Amino acid sequence: MKKVFRLVSIIVSSLALLLVLTACGSKSLANQNVMTRAKQTNTITWGVKADTKLFGLMDVKNGQIKGFEVDMAKALTKQILGPKGKADFVQVTSSTRMPLLRNGNIDAIMATTTITPQREKQVDFSRSYFDAGQSLLVKKGSPIKSVKDLNKNGATVIGVVGSNSVQNIAKFAPKAKVLQLSDYAQAVTALKSGQGEALTTDNGILGGMAVENPGYVLTGGAFTKEPYGIAINKHQPQFKRNLNSALTRVEQSGEYNRILKKWFGNVPGMNVKEMER
Ligand code: GLU
Repeated sequence: MKKVFRLVSIIVSSLALLLVLTACGSKSLANQNVMTRAKQTNTITWGVKADTKLFGLMDVKNGQIKGFEVDMAKALTKQILGPKGKADFVQVTSSTRMPLLRNGNIDAIMATTTITPQREKQVDFSRSYFDAGQSLLVKKGSPIKSVKDLNKNGATVIGVVGSNSVQNIAKFAPKAKVLQLSDYAQAVTALKSGQGEALTTDNGILGGMAVENPGYVLTGGAFTKEPYGIAINKHQPQFKRNLNSALTRVEQSGEYNRILKKWFGNVPGMNVKEMER
């Protein structure tokens, strides 16, 4: 009997040891070297917006996401992996992008993400690839002419969960009420159905909404600086270096300016010449 017990306990403890060893061997996705995996699979997986016209918007006809950031991600992928390199796209929102990156579902976020000191504590950023600024979208003829006007009469301003735009309102118009929705498609619908007097986010995003909704205009100019960066997980120095040098090559070859013109060339109020690199 004793022998049987001993045998069972040996088997149990070796199984436990095996389990621990396997767990150590398979690093979690987010901790793997992104460049090694990207080279093996010839693919970089990007988190992009699908609710943001001009930057990343789902084309319902074919299920493809299209926009400035999608084209930039494709260009950067080819610079890093070569002409046959594949860019895969996963749709993210302002609130899902960070968890999806940190869980390793995506390699990089290219989704209108401002480089902020608060976010830099959680993730690494490439250098900035686009300079935006926060502004307001209102109905034509609205009495709201600037962010300060939101303080009057306790106006309601609509924003999106996970964006820093809603946090900025607390600084610039602390008396305004903020209605937070889960994505920009819902935010526009809320503005149009009168659930708030203004919608706030970055000027480029609002420009895309104004193109779609001619009764609405940007007002008050930009009241913050929002430099967009590509967010990646920490401890990926090789990937970060590759992204930054790919960005330089895309800028120097004129491809950046071509993509910029393609998406922002005909947007009223956007001066592509000033945005060129
Ligand atoms: N750039 C701002 C941010 O990173 C607003 C745009 C967005 O919601 O993605 O939060």
